[in-house]
Amino acid sequence: MTCPFLEYRSEANNRQFDEPRAYCGAAEQFVQPMRADICNNRYDLAHDEHCEIYLEHADEVSAGNENGNETENTGQSAGDGA
Ligand code: SF4
Repeated sequence: MTCPFLEYRSEANNRQFDEPRAYCGAAEQFVQPMRADICNNRYDLAHDEHCEIYLEHADEVSAGNENGNETENTGQSAGDGA
């Protein structure tokens, strides 16, 4: 499972790209390419173990789920630069 904060956007914070890029909804910024492996739990990495941003915002995830918040973007894109 990928991080629930992970989204794909082609525009945010006055930055615009031709293809959607990994965007962190917790940090409200585009994900650095090196960190994208953590967001996607690639290799032996896990967002809920290795990302300090996720750990800081983990309580927001469970709160959102309890409220039936269905704003999570589950649309996947192959354009994550991998
Ligand atoms: S793993 Fe960390 S950087 Fe990646 S989307 Fe989740 S909170 Fe943001």
